[in-house]
Amino acid sequence: MKKLLGFTCTICNKDLEWNPSTYTCPSCGTEGILDVKYDYEFLKGHIDKKYFAENKNYTMWRYAPLMSIEGKKLKQTLKVGWTPLYRSERLAKHLGLEKLYIKDDGLNPTGSLKDRASAVAVAKAMEAGWDTIACSSTGNAASSLAGNAASMGLKTVIFVPERAPQGKVAQLLIYGANVISVKGNYQQTFEMSAAAIEKWGWYNRNAAINPHLVEGKKTVSLEIAEQLEWQVPDWVVVSVGDGCTVAGVYKGFYDLHQIGLIDRIPKILAVQAAGCSPLYKAFLENKPFEPTEENTIADSIAVGVPRNPIKALRAVKDSQGTYITVTDEEILAAMKLLGSLEGIFGEPAGVTGLAGLIKALQEQTIVSTESVAFICTGNGLKDVQNAIQAAGEPLKLEPDVKELDKIDLFHNMK
Ligand SMILES: *Cc1c(COP(=O)(O)O)cnc(C)c1O
Ligand SMILES: [Zn+2]
Repeated sequence: MKKLLGFTCTICNKDLEWNPSTYTCPSCGTEGILDVKYDYEFLKGHIDKKYFAENKNYTMWRYAPLMSIEGKKLKQTLKVGWTPLYRSERLAKHLGLEKLYIKDDGLNPTGSLKDRASAVAVAKAMEAGWDTIACSSTGNAASSLAGNAASMGLKTVIFVPERAPQGKVAQLLIYGANVISVKGNYQQTFEMSAAAIEKWGWYNRNAAINPHLVEGKKTVSLEIAEQLEWQVPDWVVVSVGDGCTVAGVYKGFYDLHQIGLIDRIPKILAVQAAGCSPLYKAFLENKPFEPTEENTIADSIAVGVPRNPIKALRAVKDSQGTYITVTDEEILAAMKLLGSLEGIFGEPAGVTGLAGLIKALQEQTIVSTESVAFICTGNGLKDVQNAIQAAGEPLKLEPDVKELDKIDLFHNMK
C-alpha cells in the first residue's frame, strides 16, 4: 500500500517496513507496540476537503484512505461511526461553557466507541483469511468484537473478567461468541487470553498489541474535525483505561494536522477514575506507571495494568493536555446530568470524561471561553445497575386513582 511507510516502535523508535502480519517490534517483544506510519506527502496529493465533501459513505470507512487497511470487503460491515456530534445548549449553559460539543459514540452498533477498533479487527482478520478472532476485554471490546464478527460470519473467543456487567455479557452470548469468564481481574484475564491465542493461533484483537486498532479508534477524531468543518475545538475530553482510545484520539488529529486539513491539534483532557488511575499518576510524576487496584464502578476503564501506556502518556503530553481523576460519585452525578440535560445516556466510563470536564472547569484547567468536545464512549443501557444507582428509584403507587393525590408534581415529576 503506497500510503503506508511502515511502523515505528514506541520503545526503541526503530522504523520497520510495512508487513500486514507484523503486530509488535521484533527487538522489543510484546511491549514494543507500534505506530502505523503514513506517507503524508502521498496522502496530501489524494485527500483534501473536497474529497470528503463528495464522499457519500457515512460510516467510519469514509476514512479508509487514512487507515491501514485495504478495504475490499468493507461494505458489508455493521454501520460503525459517523455518530452525532451535538452542539450542547443546556449542559453548556449549566457548566458555563461557551462552546461544548458532545460526540455520542454510544450510538455505535454495539453501543460503544470500541466498534471502531473491532470493525478494523474484523476487516483485517478477513483480509488475512482468518476465521476466528480472540480478545480479552473489560466488556465493550468483547461485545463489539462479537457483534462485528457475527455480522461477517467470523467466530470469536472472548475472555472477560467475572465482574463484567451482565448487559455486556448478554450481548456477547447473543452475538454467538464463545465466552470465557475468568474468575480474576482484568490483568489475569488478559494473560489467559494471550496464552490461549498463542496456544491456538487465533487472530488477536487485543487493542494495544494490534497497531491497526488505534487506527480504527482515531476515526472518532477525524469525524469530530470534519463535523466541525475542520475547525477543531480547544479541548477534547475522553476517559482512559488501557490508553488505546486516547492514543487514537490523538493520532486522528495528528494525521489531519500532518496532511494540512486542520491547523492545530486540540489539547486532550484524559480522565481516569480515582480508584484506578495508574496513567494519571505516571503522567503527573513523569515516570512509568505502577500497577494499581481496580476500584471503580466504571468497569470499562478499570484497568490496573494499562496495555498501551506509552502511547497513552505521549498522546496527552504531545497535545499539551493533561490527566485528571474523578470519583465514582462524580461519575454517577455526570451520568444523571448528561441524561437529564441532553437526553444522552452514557455508561459510567462513557460519562467519566464529562465528570473530568466538570472538575477541570472547577480547577480552571479549562476556562469558559475555550471550546470543548466531550466524547461519550459507551451507552448506558449496558450497565443499568449503576444507572439506577445514579438516578434512584421511581415513585411507587398502588393501582388506585386515589393514590394519585400522593404525587407532588414539583418534587416527583420534575
Ligand atoms: C474501552 C473504553 C474506554 C477506554 O478505552 P481504553 O482504550 O481502554 O483507554 C472508555 N470508555 C468506554 C465505554 C470503553 O469501553
Ligand atoms: Zn522496538
